Amino acid sequence: MKILLVDDTQTMRMLLTAILEDFGHNVICCDNGKEAVNCYLREHPDLILMDVVMPVMDGYQAATKIRAIDNDWVPIIFLSTRAEPSDVAAGIDAGGDDYLTKPVDETILRAKLVAMQRIATMRHKLIAVSNDLEQANSELQRQAEVDGLTGMANRRLLDRHLTMEIARCTRTLSPLSVIMADLDHFKAYNDYYGHVAGDNCLKRAAEALSKVISRSNDLACRYGGEEFCVVLPDTDKEGVAHVAEQLRIAVEKLAIPHIKNGGFVSLSLGTSTTVPDKNCSAEQLLEGADQALYQAKQSGRNRVVAYDGPCDH
Ligand code: GH3
Ligand code: MG
Ligand code: MG
Repeated sequence: MKILLVDDTQTMRMLLTAILEDFGHNVICCDNGKEAVNCYLREHPDLILMDVVMPVMDGYQAATKIRAIDNDWVPIIFLSTRAEPSDVAAGIDAGGDDYLTKPVDETILRAKLVAMQRIATMRHKLIAVSNDLEQANSELQRQAEVDGLTGMANRRLLDRHLTMEIARCTRTLSPLSVIMADLDHFKAYNDYYGHVAGDNCLKRAAEALSKVISRSNDLACRYGGEEFCVVLPDTDKEGVAHVAEQLRIAVEKLAIPHIKNGGFVSLSLGTSTTVPDKNCSAEQLLEGADQALYQAKQSGRNRVVAYDGPCDH
């Protein structure tokens, strides 16, 4: 271990250094508490062996400071000539982990160092395991919000994002738009070309749609089946009309044959825009876009329709 030895008496430092080095440890010495705090920050020792009564700053104060500075725990053992029970209690209260009285018995010191090292090792292992768990958790969280087929955001992420953006746009009084999009006659595509071709078509459409969505707060997701949803914060009616048309063109440009849909795969889109307030929910906004999408389907497909309703601005 790298041991920080703090004692104001030079003979004590020399004596203990000899013992600790004999045990195979590396020793760094300080002669008061203040220096010990600085040395701790600089050297990151594995253990601190500290006298109590010292000039400038005593051992208790130094331990309190070390515990307050850093939440990375390091074992602290006090070494003192004061042997009253209240001294021991004060040492533990100050953040010490053990308290030995001088003159220290070599065998006891060695045993205490072994015990502390064992605890420190266990703690390092625990930290490593908890870091691994944290990483696994965030990876799981990420995967839980991604659609398996297309790699796009899924509905769970959409819900979270939309709720957050509605709150933000409510504060900033900004318009917020959503687009609901749906591939045309996709059941017929599957029936005619097969499900594998259907899946490939979905992937290619998702990729093309994602390429159109470029701003950092915008989010395109697979809403389910052959439906997609796009959230466009800080975007008004003209803005969303433009983006929706680009999405429509992006799918058209793929030129994926679909003879049951007049030749090629196409996309119908409904948009909805609002300056959100407390009375406007995510559901209302999506519902508006969905109604517009229905109209796009009714009026011939492969087109964009904007919702014109009560929540609309
Ligand atoms: P419309 O133009 O009115 O939207 O007609 P549609 O046939 O696209 O709509 P409908 O809702 O009747 O059918 C959607 C079809 O999308 C049903 C299913 O065959 C297909 N589909 C949904 N999810 C998937 C998927 O993950 N993979 C594949 N291959 N097909 C899917
Ligand atoms: Mg469809
Ligand atoms: Mg559909």
